Amino acid sequence: MSTAYRPDPLPIDIPDEPAVRLIPLGGLGEIGLNMMLVESGEDIIAVDCGLLFPDDEMPGVDYVIPDFSYLAERRPAFKAVVLTHGHEDHIGALSYLLRDFDVPVYGTPLTLALARSRLAEHNVLERADLRPYQPGDEVHVGCFTIVPIRVTHSVADGIGLAIETPVGTVVHTGDFKLDRNPVDARQPDYAKFAALGERGVLALCSDSTNVGRPGRTGSETEVGAALAGRFAGAPGRILIATFASHIHRIQQVLDLAARYGRRVALLGKSMVGNVAVAAELGYLTVPDGLLVSLDELAELPAERQVILSTGSQGETNSAVALIAAGEHKYVQAEPGDLVIFSSRVIPGNERVIGRAI
Ligand SMILES: [Zn+2]
Repeated sequence: MSTAYRPDPLPIDIPDEPAVRLIPLGGLGEIGLNMMLVESGEDIIAVDCGLLFPDDEMPGVDYVIPDFSYLAERRPAFKAVVLTHGHEDHIGALSYLLRDFDVPVYGTPLTLALARSRLAEHNVLERADLRPYQPGDEVHVGCFTIVPIRVTHSVADGIGLAIETPVGTVVHTGDFKLDRNPVDARQPDYAKFAALGERGVLALCSDSTNVGRPGRTGSETEVGAALAGRFAGAPGRILIATFASHIHRIQQVLDLAARYGRRVALLGKSMVGNVAVAAELGYLTVPDGLLVSLDELAELPAERQVILSTGSQGETNSAVALIAAGEHKYVQAEPGDLVIFSSRVIPGNERVIGRAI
């Protein structure tokens, strides 16, 4: 573990007049490490607190966390963390932050649930002050008023934020994939963004993976239609790797399995954990009797089996990588299996994914 290289900071002029300062601790021009401070007067809030997963140019590094030293210098001013969504590159460093800072953490219910399981793993859940907020709420923290706004993204329950500061409104979009036809039918709140634009915004902070790709991203429901074609034509077992946080993709796989008379076994700790949490909170509907253990699945004919696994980015030691290498304890790839990587390659992961395939 280390912190990414940062140049020595330049001295900062403290203005006499009310002002707002946006201080990214990471996440600009890189995939991961998302954390931005919003500071005004004697108040600081942090938007997100994410990890960066190392690429193959950082051998021996497990992951990178933001450098919290600016917050340590201004400890009394640091008032809260506000989360936009539950991806690791936005919540993954919370367990390190909360070891050292006693601040409340705001998030939508699913985002907090995903954060909670990470905090529990790191034994910091006990001391964490997690506070749910919803689109439409108004949260007052120091001189800021924070308004969550619904967006669609590849994890459910994502939001953008309107942050009212003493000198104007800062809009932070969070990550988003604008989807006209989302699986849960909850549209991004275009009207709210438009109203903010009409009223006038001091600064818009907007960034998203693949933002440089021309064209528009297909709807999540189109992915479901493509998967349906695969299910219809598969003669044997289907093994699907996707992100454990992609609740809507998981929902579509479960629905298809049910439609085609298959059963599903989950593989990978985060897949099992996230499915349980999302189902409990009502973000995922699991048809009765659909989920079975690997043992039970193996009893069924191949054409009734689906294995839903983590490891879509080729992560070493993920279930899919182990199966590909013939080293998984319980699952061996067999002729006739259909293996689907249901995910876009995160830039930088091309080589490890290629290896797994
Ligand atoms: Zn994201």
